[in-house]
Amino acid sequence: MPSDLHMHTTYSDGSLTPEELVDAAKKAGLHYIAITDHDTVDGIGSLYERGLYPARGIHIIPGIEFSAHHTQREIHILGYNIDIYYGHLIDKLNDVTEARWVRFSEMVEKLQKVGYQITETEVLMIAGASKSISRSHIARLLVKKGYFPSVRVAFDEMLNKGKPAYVPHYRLEVGEIIDLIKAAGGTPVLAHPKLIGDDGLVESICQQGIEGIEAFYPQHNEEDTKRYIAMADRYGLLVSGGSDFHGFPTRYPAKLGIFTIDDRFAEKFYRPVRKL
Ligand code: AMP
Ligand code: MN
Ligand code: MN
Ligand code: MN
Repeated sequence: MPSDLHMHTTYSDGSLTPEELVDAAKKAGLHYIAITDHDTVDGIGSLYERGLYPARGIHIIPGIEFSAHHTQREIHILGYNIDIYYGHLIDKLNDVTEARWVRFSEMVEKLQKVGYQITETEVLMIAGASKSISRSHIARLLVKKGYFPSVRVAFDEMLNKGKPAYVPHYRLEVGEIIDLIKAAGGTPVLAHPKLIGDDGLVESICQQGIEGIEAFYPQHNEEDTKRYIAMADRYGLLVSGGSDFHGFPTRYPAKLGIFTIDDRFAEKFYRPVRKL
């Protein structure tokens, strides 16, 4: 059976609500899924609070995707099975989310200064219910207004690190994120290691208390996957993988179920819900 341990909802920069995502995952025949929104667990909370978790016929792993501080590289860390009601986690996520609001406002101002006629309100309309405002939302607006042909080009020219409209995230170090996930009872996993662009750095993170590595990822070729599985063996890490589904037709995978991993990897991350 196929599984997918990396996906986003409307609570960050995805297009489907958590309910729609679970539904689509069931229709795609997925067995284990993890919801991993950027810097928020509100999507998981909404499933819990509406009694939709655990869902029948599918195993849901509560997750999150953090962005770690680095001057040149993009380092993302997934956390699986975190206790979303853990106080210290909630406090930190509130700080991070608040900083995303200030950051988005600064990015809009930078774009306005170089001639892009966009407003904060327009970005917020794109972001919808999401409180985790990201560069994705700004990029989509820039494309919608005809400034760039695609989100990718908007990132390449304006929003990537080192580009004119870039503003750094709230500063969270790799070690701090790993400790926070563990303190919340979860398993920290290094996301899409190839996208970091520096395997030396990946190896050093493997030695900082991380417990898994996302070896299966759409942008990894067979050789990359093998190399990261070997790295997992070398450092005693779990092997994870997922599609990074956002639900937009222009971003791979356009549909759930196109990119999946084998259950024997996914099941290691699943923890049955405890009966009280
Ligand atoms: P942020 O969380 O504000 O740093 O925004 C990062 C998010 O933007 C990532 O999670 C991706 O979903 C998206 N993103 C980053 N780079 C690109 C790119 N080159 N093309 C499309 N989306 C991207
Ligand atoms: Mn994203
Ligand atoms: Mn990521
Ligand atoms: Mn992601």
